[in-house]
Amino acid sequence: LAKENGKNDFQIFMPFLLLKNLNKIEIEKNLRKAIENDEFVLYYQPVVNLENMEIHSVEALIRWFLAQKGMVSPLEFIPVAEESGLIVRIGEVVIEKALKDLKDWEQRGINDIHMAINLSARQFKTKYFENTVAKLLEKYSVDPFKISFEITETGAVENFDVSLKILGFLCQMGIKFLIDDFGTGYSSLVYLKRLPISGIKIDKSFISELEFSKESRAIVEGIILMAHKLGLKVVAEGIENKKELEILKGIGCDFGQGYLFSKPLPKDEVESLLLQKKILI
Ligand code: C2E
Ligand code: MG
Ligand code: MG
Ligand code: MG
Repeated sequence: LAKENGKNDFQIFMPFLLLKNLNKIEIEKNLRKAIENDEFVLYYQPVVNLENMEIHSVEALIRWFLAQKGMVSPLEFIPVAEESGLIVRIGEVVIEKALKDLKDWEQRGINDIHMAINLSARQFKTKYFENTVAKLLEKYSVDPFKISFEITETGAVENFDVSLKILGFLCQMGIKFLIDDFGTGYSSLVYLKRLPISGIKIDKSFISELEFSKESRAIVEGIILMAHKLGLKVVAEGIENKKELEILKGIGCDFGQGYLFSKPLPKDEVESLLLQKKILI
């Protein structure tokens, strides 16, 4: 149909956009309700130290289950939450739940676990974000050294001065910053290094190609070398099999995360792994 309209082929996008907009409004309405009714749940995925195969930290990953419909992927609703600004409140809920669970683990003897929390750019660049974080840390008396925030390259580099100020403040408190999905955005390590970040997470798209592509392997190896030279730790995301693990160990990757070790799990289920500490595969 669009073809028939010749040059006017942008028309093909009209129904798609309309549908998308309708969906957004629906999702937004439901998100507001979800905040009110406290419908969000955190799952946790272990991050493994590849040197000794011990769990170093868990990454908190938000889950939203809709009655009848099942789980809505964060990939679907986080962008809507960002656009509408609801991410600020949702992000606060995430930080609070994560700190509460971390405290809970501490009180039951699991003392040496770190917590990684995803931040959206819009969230950490809102006014008083630092204060919110400081208050919550105090409320749950969590050691800021146990917390790292994951931000994307684009989020870090956009409004660079604002990033620099907020990251600087939180960093001084002892919180660490990691660049998430590294390699998928537009930036360079050299540029990122002007921010106080302590590590990068190589995006899973590179990891899944490791076995088959010499180029991907070269890229990952290069990223690791450069990161180490800059004093950054490296986490590989999305490790799904032993072959990938062996390659990553061979090229000096520090940490790994992926279905090979564990899927993201509800709090109760991840606990048994934390108690066991060592990941057996
Ligand atoms: P992310 O931060 O890069 O998180 C890693 C994603 O990869 C998670 O998807 C995780 O379940 C998935 N994953 C882990 N290991 C494997 C593996 O071996 N294979 C494959 N194929 N996937 C694996 P999830 O939980 O669906 O989250 C998707 C994205 O949503 C996250 O990507 C993050 O960007 C965002 N997100 C999740 N929770 C939050 C949150 O609390 N706040 C914000 N702002 N964003 C969040
Ligand atoms: Mg992440
Ligand atoms: Mg990622
Ligand atoms: Mg991500």
